[in-house]
Amino acid sequence: MSLSEITARIAKAEAQAGREAGSAKLIAVSKVQPDERVKAVLQEGHRLFGENRVQEAAGKWPAFRENFPDAEVHLIGPLQTNKARQAFELFEAIHSVDRPKLAKTIARLAQEVGHCPELFIQVNTGEEPQKAGILPADTDGFIAECRAMDLPLNGLMCIPPATEEPSLHFALLGKIAARNGLSGLSMGMSSDFESAIALGATHIRVGSAIFGARAYEP
Ligand SMILES: *Cc1c(COP(=O)(O)O)cnc(C)c1O
Repeated sequence: MSLSEITARIAKAEAQAGREAGSAKLIAVSKVQPDERVKAVLQEGHRLFGENRVQEAAGKWPAFRENFPDAEVHLIGPLQTNKARQAFELFEAIHSVDRPKLAKTIARLAQEVGHCPELFIQVNTGEEPQKAGILPADTDGFIAECRAMDLPLNGLMCIPPATEEPSLHFALLGKIAARNGLSGLSMGMSSDFESAIALGATHIRVGSAIFGARAYEP
């Protein structure tokens, strides 16, 4: 599928949900994709991208940014505390704030360098043991903890379990965000972004539907 087909589907989903055009931002997930495919999407005029590995982003985005200085890259995968400093240099947003230790490291860095990427707290809505994220029952407390550290919280992010109806998880994420006064909702991928938009997604993360299948899963 092409970028223009995806943006047309997004516009349609926004209209059907009675939402303003452009209120759901498309993060083109470029992880693992060959440089030519990423460059083609940049040349089509798209500027917002997502990567799930710090190392991989460090290897390719500095060069892309030379030619496309207004490109924006969001980290959507796990962040080790020892890579947080590098993440500050590489990303305009971090969607994977998933534990107190990382929040503390980010707060310390933000103090030190005087700026901070936009932050999303990753919530493990499916309570899957192998998956990162704050458990739903712990999320209100963690949000309060982050606020006490003056972290610039944009919203919440989730990756629903592969075998469950994603809209239940999108609705849960929306509910937790609303009761905490957070407006950002990073949810929805290639197979379910339309239902995420119907349930209030402000950032959808779409990879394979734009770029084609990945050669391997990172
Ligand atoms: C890879 C990835 C995506 C994109 O997945 P697609 O199914 O290719 O759209 C979205 N979110 C996260 C966190 C990812 O790692």
